[in-house]
Amino acid sequence: MARHKVFQGGPDDEDDGPPAGSGSAFNPDDEQFDDELRPQGLDEVVGQRKVVERLRIVLDAARMRKEPLGHLLLDGPPGLGKTTLAMAMAREMGVECQITSGPALQAPKDLLSYLTNAAQGSVLFIDEIHRLPPTVEEFIYPVMEDFRVDIVLGEGLSARTINMKLKRFTIVGATTRSGMLTAPLRDRFVVREHLDFYEIDDLSEIVRRNALKLRTTTTEDSALQLASRSRGTPRKANNLLRWARDFATVHEPEGRITDEVVKRALAMLEVDHLGLEAQDRRYLQTIVSVFSGGPAGLNAIGHTMNVPPDTLEDEVEPFLLQCGFIQRTPRGRVITASGLEHLGQHPPKGPGQRELF
Ligand code: ADP
Repeated sequence: MARHKVFQGGPDDEDDGPPAGSGSAFNPDDEQFDDELRPQGLDEVVGQRKVVERLRIVLDAARMRKEPLGHLLLDGPPGLGKTTLAMAMAREMGVECQITSGPALQAPKDLLSYLTNAAQGSVLFIDEIHRLPPTVEEFIYPVMEDFRVDIVLGEGLSARTINMKLKRFTIVGATTRSGMLTAPLRDRFVVREHLDFYEIDDLSEIVRRNALKLRTTTTEDSALQLASRSRGTPRKANNLLRWARDFATVHEPEGRITDEVVKRALAMLEVDHLGLEAQDRRYLQTIVSVFSGGPAGLNAIGHTMNVPPDTLEDEVEPFLLQCGFIQRTPRGRVITASGLEHLGQHPPKGPGQRELF
């Protein structure tokens, strides 16, 4: 996903995102409404307490010393708040936040305008930083260390290098695959934080707050129900809340999101009691029926399902691993006994198969 935008820090900025309710079709991957529900300051960020506490120290120290923040790396599955934290840090510092992503930076020249635009102390957020090509990665090292770039002009014998000094600014990198980062890049981040799936109580709180922002009402039970089916992910909680609101608008006289409404709305969406969607169940079912329970290579599963392996690795597998429904072994993915049970099936009795479970 390539994103280019600039957020100007400051507590009074108006969010000019689309108005509440302007999205008609439900699309679980639709990120266009993220900004509308995004917490603005660190105080509004729910959950991830230890991470937020540590970031608060980093932030306060930088403010007290009147220095830019150190480069910060955030890793964790999609939708857990990496962009939110980067923007909140910039806002708390009262500085501008430029946003781009690894896939959008295919050559050093793509990065250049961000570097020259970066004001003193500002933040440059690079999403999916593990997807930076090696040439851009090498170009970024002197930027992160010495705030300078070496630009080569011309070719061959007439080539000369210009050394350009930059303002001291902060790179916030986000990645869903910290393991894919090279050690030299990872080591240049002074602060590194991992975001984990959220507790149900925190997701309930996010649902309740966002219901107010969307000018709709939930009950204690319905908020809990939505939270427990959000796969530990705030973005999912927001998407399910929007869908429940649409459903309630159509089916409930006063549009209230009750427990009953959530159950019916999520049944229609084929989201089960744990929050697994049709694609998650299809993934599990593919391992069972095509690969006899595994081990199966990620690419083979992806090709069979006709889904890019990257999508499976980023969006499907982390939660299935967290639920204990699959295991990643050196020989491939294996479904576990509880994964089979979730599909309503039993571990096979054959001697060769039993060892898998
Ligand atoms: P990521 O960058 O990790 O993919 P985002 O920061 O874009 O995730 O988060 C997606 C949405 O989830 C945000 O727009 C926001 O509404 C919500 N969200 C994420 N983290 C939190 C949080 N800690 N508290 C409240 N809402 C959150």
